[in-house]
Amino acid sequence: METGETKIYEVIIVGGGPAGLTAGLYTSRARLHTLLIESALFGGQMTTTEMVENYPGFPQGITGDELSRLMEEQAKRFGMETVNDEVVEVRLEGDIKHVRTHESNYLCEALILCMGTEYRKLGVPGEKELTGKGVSYCATCDAAFFTDSQIMVVGGGDSALTEALFLTKFVKELSIVHRRDALRATRIYQERALANPKIKFLWNSVVQEIKGDKVVQSIVLKNVKTGEVKEYETEGVFLFVGISPKTQFLKGLVRMDEAGYILTDDRCETSGKGIFAAGDCRKKLLRQVTTAVGDGATAAFAAEKYLEERE
Ligand code: NAP
Repeated sequence: METGETKIYEVIIVGGGPAGLTAGLYTSRARLHTLLIESALFGGQMTTTEMVENYPGFPQGITGDELSRLMEEQAKRFGMETVNDEVVEVRLEGDIKHVRTHESNYLCEALILCMGTEYRKLGVPGEKELTGKGVSYCATCDAAFFTDSQIMVVGGGDSALTEALFLTKFVKELSIVHRRDALRATRIYQERALANPKIKFLWNSVVQEIKGDKVVQSIVLKNVKTGEVKEYETEGVFLFVGISPKTQFLKGLVRMDEAGYILTDDRCETSGKGIFAAGDCRKKLLRQVTTAVGDGATAAFAAEKYLEERE
């Protein structure tokens, strides 16, 4: 459909991780005119995951890079258009959704939001100033810079442990700094980390400051049980203290919980008519590639039904 000079897509998908790529595969295969807008790499957080071991069909696991490449290739096979840009605003004019990016404006009838999440910041002195100078949020991106180094990994969840295990292939030694004395991560990762001779644990410890002149030189930790404050020399600090949804630009467009996760029904439909959400940015129990893919298919099918019912 065209209005004046502006093309109206039947479906626009925001975000090209596993949820967005699956939604795109389904809508373009259903012959819906689809545009997928991705600001970085197709595959999203998968691209920085060394090995995906829990995606069915790959008994020996598959690298995040390869799985991303395969999903992208499959999604594009049925004619989905793509653009590399960042969405900064969505507004409604009747049933038409106006999607504004840095570079352009796009219109659509059904919108599928698949922006995923980003790593949360700790908010301690030195973190911002030393990001990229020893402070990192991505082991697969930065591990090679820390070959034979002594580093710290902060957090006790799946991200902290899987990234720490990956980092042991590069570093001389690393310490996992965790604010409690029990890990949150899945048991299989706990077992692997506890058995790894390169990994030490600093329990009941919180970060007070990251110090360094031009690069990270030390970290100040407080033991929450004893109150002792101690400075440790270190060459790098990897932070994995949780995630937050990339939904800030939606500003009241759809209902979200207090943390910014989008609320949907079992059709992945949001409080906005014709607006669907899939993957990690949606409020749900389990955030993994398997569940993102399921969401993407559900949201795409629901969008197709929405468009049919409107006709
Ligand atoms: P997460 O599960 O929320 O864990 C965050 C960790 O950081 C927790 O151990 C938490 O401590 C700690 N933390 C939070 N705020 C802190 C603060 N201010 N200071 C110090 N520590 C703090 O986040 P995640 O590990 O990034 O995982 C996010 C989601 O992705 C999860 O659903 C996870 O299962 C999934 N994921 C899965 C895989 C996989 O299956 N291979 C890999 C990565 C991530 P507490 O434990 O005390 O709360």
